[in-house]
Amino acid sequence: MLYSERFRVAPGSKIKLSAIDPSFKDKHESKESAEAENAEHARRLGELQFLLYAEDRRSLLVVLQGMDAGGKDGTIRHVFGAMNPQGTRVHAFKVPSQEEAAHDFLWRAHLHAPARGEVVVFNRSHYEDVLVARVHDLVPKRVWSKRYGRINDFESNLIDGGTHIIKFFLHISEDEQLERLRQRLEDPKRRWKIAESDYTERALWPQYMEAYEEALARTSTEDAPWYVIPANHKWFRNLAVSKIVVETMEALRMKFPPPRVDIDEIRRKYHEAARHRPGRRSARSRRR
Ligand code: ATP
Ligand code: MG
Repeated sequence: MLYSERFRVAPGSKIKLSAIDPSFKDKHESKESAEAENAEHARRLGELQFLLYAEDRRSLLVVLQGMDAGGKDGTIRHVFGAMNPQGTRVHAFKVPSQEEAAHDFLWRAHLHAPARGEVVVFNRSHYEDVLVARVHDLVPKRVWSKRYGRINDFESNLIDGGTHIIKFFLHISEDEQLERLRQRLEDPKRRWKIAESDYTERALWPQYMEAYEEALARTSTEDAPWYVIPANHKWFRNLAVSKIVVETMEALRMKFPPPRVDIDEIRRKYHEAARHRPGRRSARSRRR
């Protein structure tokens, strides 16, 4: 079964995140058994991104959301690292800057949306405005509750302009998060990542799950679907995300565009140039 069907939040449906196993790993026993498949996805992703770039007609926007230590950074490194940096961009959404906060909440998302031929990954996104903003009452309910519709309209507008949108929620368990926070504390190479908010936000886990459930239910659409990715196993998360990106891009049936010049004419010019290239010995001098 296609992963783009299996993990998709069906438009209009309600989901219960607690009913989805974050440790799911499908038919795979271990990281090793998924390695060959993962390598094949990486190769395909490189090819497909090259095609998108060459075609220069459409673009791809990937939204990554998840709790702290949910694996957004790792997904970007492992999955999107297989693409050519020329034509690929990542944008991380932090607490809005003064300038960003002075605009409507979608302004900064639009600013960083992909141009034709580009793949853009949003590390967090405009969804923060119905997640953290809701959980922390940063704006009143009457404001955030209107945002789901605004987000759908915004995404439709991007889609009309040739952007394909896929959205991933990296689903980890509270235990797995705690284990990752412990590793951050113990590993000097990870300590720099620790933020106090990792712990304050963790205390609000149920509120976040509720906010995610509503966002997923109200903004998973035919053209901009959400996928809930079991993400306790990092290798399975990478496998599932890369498989869905490959499936999505393959469905675009992209083709290399025809050359913009008359190839026969250029070929004639090429042969002419080759005949006259400096240093080329004439047929007569070669016989001597
Ligand atoms: P990591 O922890 O892996 O480095 P991160 O995405 O958690 O990555 P941080 O700098 O730790 O990066 O956190 C960014 C913070 O910005 C998050 O707590 C997020 O909720 C917050 N944020 C993002 N968008 C908004 C927004 N629109 N309003 C308020 N806070 C936001
Ligand atoms: Mg963080």
